[in-house]
Order: sequence, then structure tokens, then C-alpha cells
Amino acid sequence: MALWNDPDLWDQLCSGEACPICLRSEPLDVVATLEASWVTMQEAAPIRGYVCLVSRTHAVELHDLPPSAAAGFMRDACKVSEAIAVATQAVKINYEIHGNSIPHLHMHFFPRYRGDRFEGLPIDPKLTVQPIYSPGEFEEIRDALVLALKTKTPLGG
Ligand SMILES: [Zn+2]
Repeated sequence: MALWNDPDLWDQLCSGEACPICLRSEPLDVVATLEASWVTMQEAAPIRGYVCLVSRTHAVELHDLPPSAAAGFMRDACKVSEAIAVATQAVKINYEIHGNSIPHLHMHFFPRYRGDRFEGLPIDPKLTVQPIYSPGEFEEIRDALVLALKTKTPLGG
């Protein structure tokens, strides 16, 4: 059942009052803090190199962000996209924004690979078989991503 079917809980999640991210002051598994967002990664991921970018401003929809925060969030998204490309050699990156369970703006980044198990389809995290990383591989990709975030400038600038 979708959380929005409980109007009181949904209002509290949307206002930030019961938002699990805001209550902790930041999301879990932060690997870098950018201008307008936190970069998060976890070893139990749907696909190798998966990143979730979480807005540092509580907002439900993109259009709820003040214009400067929205521009900052998109700048961060471009920076993360480029860093994932460097760290994973993905053939394509997929981007998704849902917020149906935690209505605090966040963007999923799914690197795609030739022959990945979802080829021709979107990623379905429910069909992921763990572990997706070989021993040490998560740390290697995470460190390469963090290094790329520190050294690369977005949009080829
Ligand atoms: Zn929040």
C-alpha cells in the first residue's frame, strides 16, 4: 500500500515532521557532501556503481525547491553523473526520481553495462541478487567516485 493512502502520515512525511532523513539530519551512507546534496552509496545496491543523490533541503517535488537550491541540485546531479561515468565505465546512466516511500527529494543513478541482467528494461531493485560486488570492489568504485567528485568539474568546465 502506498504511504500516501495514510493522509496524516503522508502529511507528516511531506512537511518534514516525520521525514526520516530530516530527523537524522542527513541520510545514511553519505560518501560526499556537495553544494546542495549528499551523495550516498551502499554495498547492498541494485547495480554496481549505484548512487542516490539526496537534496540537503527538504522538498517533496523538484518545483518545491527554491530556484537557487534547484539549480544547485542539478549542478550536483551533473557532477555525480560524470563521476559515475569515470568510476564505473558504464555504457549509459539511468536517472530516476520517485519519492513515493520517502518524500524527501532524491535522485537514483543506475549505471548500465553491456549484458547487465536488466538489458532492454529499467532496473528493478526487487530483482537484484546480492552480493552485486566482488570482495573489495565496492570500496574501489566508491573511492574512485569520491576522487572523481573532487577532481572533475561538471559539464566539461
Ligand atoms: Zn526531509
